Amino acid sequence: MDEIYENAKRVLERAKNAAVRAGVPEVTVVAASKMNDANRVHRAFDAGIRYFGENRAQELEEKLREGAFEGAKIHFIGHLQRNKVKALVGRVDMIESVDSFELVDLISDRAQALGTVQPALIEVNIGGEAAKSGVAPEGLEELLAYADKKPGISVRGLMAIPPAGAGNDGTFRYFEQMRKLFVDMRAKKYDNVTMSVLSMGMSADFETAIACGANMVRVGSAIFGERHYT
Ligand SMILES: *Cc1c(COP(=O)(O)O)cnc(C)c1O
Repeated sequence: MDEIYENAKRVLERAKNAAVRAGVPEVTVVAASKMNDANRVHRAFDAGIRYFGENRAQELEEKLREGAFEGAKIHFIGHLQRNKVKALVGRVDMIESVDSFELVDLISDRAQALGTVQPALIEVNIGGEAAKSGVAPEGLEELLAYADKKPGISVRGLMAIPPAGAGNDGTFRYFEQMRKLFVDMRAKKYDNVTMSVLSMGMSADFETAIACGANMVRVGSAIFGERHYT
């Protein structure tokens, strides 16, 4: 009995059902695989997971060396430090955590140097938390307009992590605010920016997120079990 395999199957099924209920054509499940080794990643892959999210450039590097993500797409979902941009651009299929003009510049410049274009999402600090990554909702439009002019980055949508401990109702309200922002930004005219991806929802609330319009969810512990931080 392989728990990760069974869990991953169940999460894919639940996400699919939630998408049908919400009338969302397709939902991408990104398995948040931090602290899980290549072996465990492979078990999720065998169950049908084709997207994995990593938080740390170093851990990603090690797992790439172990062949953890063969045949799958890799998303960087963690807090993005300037000095890690070089290691990520061109190596990951999407960077979900872009939140500043400076990061837009660094990513675009690096991608251009490599002769590529880096797909990315803009992370929104929807709860206005001081200690959290993400651009403030009020600053989103300006950052999108800026990224639109940068040839090395292709912004595809938005990502958000609502404040922990907001409760079901609170989380629902944050998801609804994100949906509204997403729809508002989608109505604007951009040359390079597209608003096709809304990434929100984790193990505890991904079905709620899908009901609020998410078409990408990042699920860790519901697939891999509880993480034990040492
Ligand atoms: C770890 C992580 C997740 C998944 O969290 P779970 O609660 O274990 O599903 C999602 N998004 C980000 C950015 C993460 O770091």
